[in-house]
Amino acid sequence: MHVVVTGAAGFIGTHVVSALLSRGDEVVGVDRHDTVGTSTTTTPSARYTHIRADLSDPGDPRTTAWRRAVRRADGVVHLAARPGVRATGVDVEAARARDILGTTDAVLSAAARHTAVVVASSSAVYGPGRSGRGSTEADTIMPISSYGRWKAAVEARCARHRRDGGVVGVARPFTVAGPGQRPDMAIALWLDAVLNSRAVTVFGDLDRSRDITDVTDVANGLIAMIDLTTTGESTTLNLGAGHPWTHRQVIAAIESVTGTHARLDVREAHPDDVARTWADPRRAADLIDWHPTQDLAAIITRQIGGPQPAAHVPAAHVSAAA
Ligand code: NAD
Repeated sequence: MHVVVTGAAGFIGTHVVSALLSRGDEVVGVDRHDTVGTSTTTTPSARYTHIRADLSDPGDPRTTAWRRAVRRADGVVHLAARPGVRATGVDVEAARARDILGTTDAVLSAAARHTAVVVASSSAVYGPGRSGRGSTEADTIMPISSYGRWKAAVEARCARHRRDGGVVGVARPFTVAGPGQRPDMAIALWLDAVLNSRAVTVFGDLDRSRDITDVTDVANGLIAMIDLTTTGESTTLNLGAGHPWTHRQVIAAIESVTGTHARLDVREAHPDDVARTWADPRRAADLIDWHPTQDLAAIITRQIGGPQPAAHVPAAHVSAAA
């Protein structure tokens, strides 16, 4: 298959590209950053092409190149976005509008009607979720953060694409962890603090919880969604392990894996941070046979020392002149 991955230089994108190349697909990665040099190992691949472009800037000189790649692809995994719930401010809103909704609009507008597109939304669309059970795809979404509201706008844009006859899968990943995790995310921050003898800063209380999902599982789930979407089935799926871990349990797991005691610095919760996320993953199990690990210690162990996903030395690099 020919697959375009946007956000290919990012945390999840790097794993998705690796997994697609491993199974023999032809991949075009699009990102405003290069992928080369993002990890400890490099794998030259004649099946990988990288286009360095800003998807939300129609004036970018590589716009024609990435739009052509999307139009010709069998499938597109759209991951490019500005993730993270905490940042606020006028500039942040403008950047979210551009990088979350703007990139989605650009990609869906470029896709041919038959192109299977899988778009990353987020568990943030659920807001506080339901008490006593995991969130299901049938629940009414109730985002409370600006990030969650922009992702809800992305889902509305996907619904319009479906109404116009396009095929689109919407993935709702829950907190993703593992090798290469974004440095602004909690486990990366907490590991860095513990390993460098600094206090671990926790926002809110230790009983807050997150459904934590292995990045390899998420990459495989996104690829299984592309395979499903190429059959013409548009669907929305949670990509979450189905197990909420309290901050206390996550810190205990970090202590156990590193053999180091964590000093805690507990601060007031950010208003955009929900107390708990919890996925009901049964629909993904039914539709794409997806069974993510719930072994938190194994995920943290891989995040600390496991091999990083290969950076993809492209056989071709589309330059500004393309
Ligand atoms: P990331 O920041 O590591 O990767 C995003 C990539 O998109 C970056 O490499 C960035 O350069 C690129 N990008 C952003 N705007 C762009 C633009 N205008 N043009 C070209 N490239 C652009 O983020 P991630 O953690 O890998 O997340 C990937 C996707 O999954 C995002 O859509 C995010 O909202 C979603 N998601 C992530 C998580 C998580 O826990 N990491 C959870 C839920 C949803």
